[in-house]
Amino acid sequence: MSGTKNMPVVRCKDCEALYIPPVYVCRKCHGQGIEEASCAGDGVVYTHTTIRVAPEALRDQAPYTIVIVELTPELRVTGRLEGGDIEGLEIGQPVRFTRVDEQGYWFSCSS
Ligand SMILES: [Zn+2]
Repeated sequence: MSGTKNMPVVRCKDCEALYIPPVYVCRKCHGQGIEEASCAGDGVVYTHTTIRVAPEALRDQAPYTIVIVELTPELRVTGRLEGGDIEGLEIGQPVRFTRVDEQGYWFSCSS
């Protein structure tokens, strides 16, 4: 195990646009040749918010941090940050994809 994990995405065969979550028709070129792909999962924090008062189902997880991660200038994804309430998390800080589960995509701070 290398410790690096690729992030599942889909890619348009025609124009190579990447999408998360998956689409069936490319929003750029309207092509329907969508294939499964992966990307490195390295991105930066575009914005973030910490949830302190959580909905019922997530109450035992609060506080937790939601991040919008910019993987490329055209690909942003909403995810959860490992480790709960991250002090001093900054816009532009590098993060890395760690896993995907029923709660969505998870990221951790890159060192
Ligand atoms: Zn396309």
